[in-house]
Amino acid sequence: MSYRPNIVNFTLAGSNEKEGLYEFKMSLADGTECRVFSQRNPEWTLTNISRLLTTPCPVCHKDFICKCMDQFHEEIIGQINAKQLFEKALS
Ligand SMILES: [Zn+2]
Repeated sequence: MSYRPNIVNFTLAGSNEKEGLYEFKMSLADGTECRVFSQRNPEWTLTNISRLLTTPCPVCHKDFICKCMDQFHEEIIGQINAKQLFEKALS
C-alpha cells in the first residue's frame, strides 16, 4: 500500500461536549475531504472516518462509498497527535 494521507486542514464541525463526542472536517493534501468522528474519553480516539464524496477515493478511485480510509486510522491519529490538531481545532 503506497498511499499515505497527509492532513492539511482539520476543523471542528460539531460536538456533544457532555458525551465527549466530536466531529471534525479533515482535508488531505491530495484534495480528499473526510468527516472524522472522535471520542474524547478516556483518551482521544477515532470512532469513524468517512470520506466525503466530493472527490474519488485516493486509494481505490471509486467515487462512491468505500472502506479504504479505515486502514489509516493509526496513521491519521498519529498525525493528529503529532500536530496537536484536536487541541487546535477546539481552541
Ligand atoms: Zn476507496
